[in-house]
Amino acid sequence: MKIDFFEVPEEGLSLDLVDAQWCPADILKKGHAVASLFLKRIGPRVIAGGTLSATVVLDCDRCLAPFDLPLQAHFKIDIELPDGQADVWEHGDHQCHDEEMDVHVLENTKIDVSDILLQQLYLALPMKALCNDECRGICESCGINRNKLECECKQETVSPFAVLAKLKT
Ligand SMILES: [Zn+2]
Ligand SMILES: [Zn+2]
Repeated sequence: MKIDFFEVPEEGLSLDLVDAQWCPADILKKGHAVASLFLKRIGPRVIAGGTLSATVVLDCDRCLAPFDLPLQAHFKIDIELPDGQADVWEHGDHQCHDEEMDVHVLENTKIDVSDILLQQLYLALPMKALCNDECRGICESCGINRNKLECECKQETVSPFAVLAKLKT
C-alpha cells in the first residue's frame, strides 16, 4: 500500500493493516499479521509511528526444525522527501532529528507503507533463530536431531551457518 507524501494530512492519519495488506504471502506465518500506523505530516517530513505483530515460522539455525516465533515491534520513523523535493520549505525544519528515530528517505513522493512495515518486521527478527536457547542441534555425523534422540557419535560441533542464508532472502 502506497500513500503520496502530500496526501498525508497535518492532523494525521491512522491505518490498520492486516496480513496481505502489508505482509507478503511468502513470509511463512501463523495467525494474523497486524499493524497499526499513524502518519503525520510536519512540514517537509512525515512522522510514522506504530506497532506491528506477527508470528513467523522460522527454521532453527541449529536443528533445522521449524518453530513459531512471535514478533512485536514498536517504531517511529522520520520519512523525508528526496533531495530537491523539499525545497518548498527552504531549510526551515530540516535540522533536528530525534536520535531515537530511523530516517527513511523516499525515492519519490510515494510512501510505501507496506515496505516500511516489512522493514520493521525484518529488524525485529533475531540474529540467530533458535527454537530454544538450549537447542542441541543436529549431529553432524549421523544427522539425528539431538533434541529428540541421543546418538553414539563423539562430535560436538554444529554448523550454525547452514540455514542463515535462507533468512536473508
Ligand atoms: Zn533447534
Ligand atoms: Zn550422531
